[in-house]
Amino acid sequence: MESGTNWYKDAFCKLHFDMHTPSHIADIASGFDPDEFARRLRIASPDAICFFAKSARGWAHYPTRIGAAHPHLKRDLLGEAIEACHKAGIKLIAYYCIEVIPPPIAEAHPEYLARGANGEPVKTGGEGFISCVNTPVQEELILPQLKEILENYDVDGIFFDGFPAMHRICFCEGCRRSFGKEIPNGPDHPNWREYVVWQRNRLNEWCSETARFIHSIRPDVLVGVNWLAANRYADVPPPGVDYLTADYPVSDNCSLGTSYQLAAWCWRDLPCDVMNARMLGWWSDWTFRPSAALKTEFAASIAYCCPLFLGDLLPPDTSLPDVHAMELAGEAFKFARAREDLVREAAPIADLALVNSSADHLLRGRSPSRDETALRGAFLAAVEGGYTAHILLDIDLAENLSRYKAVLMPEAAYLCEGACRAIREFVAEGGGLIVCGPVPKGVDGDSLEDVLGVRVEGEAEDDCAFLRVPDGLAHMWPDWEPVRPWVLVLGRFQKARLEGAEELMGSVAAGSPVGSEAALAWYLSPPATIPINTSAPSSLAL
Ligand SMILES: [Zn+2]
Repeated sequence: MESGTNWYKDAFCKLHFDMHTPSHIADIASGFDPDEFARRLRIASPDAICFFAKSARGWAHYPTRIGAAHPHLKRDLLGEAIEACHKAGIKLIAYYCIEVIPPPIAEAHPEYLARGANGEPVKTGGEGFISCVNTPVQEELILPQLKEILENYDVDGIFFDGFPAMHRICFCEGCRRSFGKEIPNGPDHPNWREYVVWQRNRLNEWCSETARFIHSIRPDVLVGVNWLAANRYADVPPPGVDYLTADYPVSDNCSLGTSYQLAAWCWRDLPCDVMNARMLGWWSDWTFRPSAALKTEFAASIAYCCPLFLGDLLPPDTSLPDVHAMELAGEAFKFARAREDLVREAAPIADLALVNSSADHLLRGRSPSRDETALRGAFLAAVEGGYTAHILLDIDLAENLSRYKAVLMPEAAYLCEGACRAIREFVAEGGGLIVCGPVPKGVDGDSLEDVLGVRVEGEAEDDCAFLRVPDGLAHMWPDWEPVRPWVLVLGRFQKARLEGAEELMGSVAAGSPVGSEAALAWYLSPPATIPINTSAPSSLAL
């Protein structure tokens, strides 16, 4: 991308239109009318939309000489939509599903396909097949098709989808050759750790290579990859991408989810957003979220100084947005635009830095995606405690920690090289430190034992224990809650000897008489000065 031309953050209100249409749908886009399309868009008044070039069924929504157009598509839907949008002053991002290819291409090119452990091609839930970017599909289909789109259509950006699906374990010849060892069949295989590192490096390279290719043809076109560098991958964005985005699961708590993901992205240099959606259940239903829900989700984005992205669906026959959906979007966008000036030149700040440890994921993870339970729990505890929080990777700490008042480490047994030193220096300068879970060790041999004032002495025998805010801290317990309960905390506690730290709360092993001595679980090192919400331990110690 040319410097100074990244328009993504300025496109405050964006719409995405899903239309994954299988081949048996005979009537696709027959009722499309570009003028009516523009008229309906104006009801919502987006700055940009995301519109299909190639769907997650693998079919192109334009006449293509490289890929395969939907068999019943009789018009240049992408081209007509671009012209209508640009006439209306709306930018268009072309949606391109990376990995799904339709049957005609899969049958002609079995060498493009991802393979299971048994060597069989990997299929989607529908008619499509899953390709692997480590096969010739990259040079022979993906890049030429992108070139075709970029040279023939005045698109303003590319939205790649399918990144999570690219994290499958693939046994194709290209992967086997590139990895250079036996592909592991699961996390207990001796090559697993090496494979996960290789896979994430390879996928990051794919993002950078492909973005470079796009920019070599159209430097002005922005490139984003759905879910790239999200919390679940505990990784930094690779060079070349122009914006970060993720279509957050519709059925989840999207306000919290939006905050949780943007907390990790908003402080970086790249523009970012989380895609919320109009529907209640999942992407293929035609229900409507209440406008209050959309406004709440948008408020979460605005609080992180981020633009908005709202997902909608198009019916295949007309490919026109529902007027009521546009009215709903328009109302929610109006709410947001009234607050746009507050965040346009603003930078988000926070008191707490939560650590998402990349080293911990790579050393202990049992999936290419991180187990986010502890991080999400810590984020929720911070939010419920009234604290503002950003999420930093361990890789980010040395450079960025000084901006925060305290750092919170949820279940980070391992930290990357230099991270313990960065935290030690941060605490020495007066920063607060909360460790929840094991005392972190650096992969460089460093540890936070000295900073915390404890010495680890193995693990407790039980895999759960009880914690209770003690009498000495009872004044911090909220008045509205008459009972200070013993809270069951699952997980194996570390035993530790105090070497300068003060015990605030002892844990009680399951089955022990309440009040007995037990493994210590909760520490605040002496330099930690931030007040602790007394309801936090039960939420934090996940
Ligand atoms: Zn492969």
